[in-house]
Amino acid sequence: MPELPEVETIKIGLQKKIKDKQIKDIIVNICKIIKKPSLEEFITKIKDKKIKGIDRRGKYIIIYLDSEDKLVVHLGMTGLLIYPYDNKITEKEINPKHNHLIFTFTDNTQLVFNDVRRFGKIFLVSNIDDVESIAKLGVEPLESYFTEEIFIQVLNKKKNCKIKSFLMKQEFITGLGNIYANEVLYRSNIHPLRIISSLNKKEVRNLHQQIKLVLVEAVKLRGSTVADEAYRDTDGEKGKFAEKLQVYAQKGEPCLKCGRSIEVVRIEGRSSFICPKCQKL
Ligand SMILES: [Zn+2]
Repeated sequence: MPELPEVETIKIGLQKKIKDKQIKDIIVNICKIIKKPSLEEFITKIKDKKIKGIDRRGKYIIIYLDSEDKLVVHLGMTGLLIYPYDNKITEKEINPKHNHLIFTFTDNTQLVFNDVRRFGKIFLVSNIDDVESIAKLGVEPLESYFTEEIFIQVLNKKKNCKIKSFLMKQEFITGLGNIYANEVLYRSNIHPLRIISSLNKKEVRNLHQQIKLVLVEAVKLRGSTVADEAYRDTDGEKGKFAEKLQVYAQKGEPCLKCGRSIEVVRIEGRSSFICPKCQKL
């Protein structure tokens, strides 16, 4: 599932590629992807509009049009935005049968929304807070305002929560999912089931630093495509941070710090990867 680094990578790709392009036509193959407004209204309001800019909020991509409307895209589990779309793309294991939405611009290039699992969602709204849950999103960990002090304030809102579930809840810090929550906890030597109030000052400081470091490095390497996962950037290329993962999907591999085997435990239905020696409960 795309997390902050993957969505940020797609945002940067779109900023370089589709800004100032004018939408000539849209083909919608699967209507349920469009959550708001009706399909007819969606098409009428998008046709002939120009792309003014692209932004990100949490795991949502926001595309500003030269009207009052914004196109908001959530990639769900396997959503991809590919540009430009041409025949070479199928060589990159992207199956055209999952092209659910195709935007054609006036220069005849195309942006395709491809989604194997179909959990992706697209909205057209004049106010982004009209999109379910955007209004409830927490702080952006890559913004400069996300200081250690702000991190402590946010942690204090949920002192009795287990740290990994807290990191993955979008209403506190937005953008972290299972991959990056596992990575930051391992790199901070904190067990995912630790209660927030049990963390000492040094652990909180480490965790804050690791959240920033891991996300910045992951964005630099254009996100993570782990094993056979679907994620691709706008060029259809895999994310290279998968090669830098130290704990996620590393079951049985030696811990880089102590040599013990990485273990996997199920926490709230998700796999948590830990070093049992470096991350003690
Ligand atoms: Zn270890």
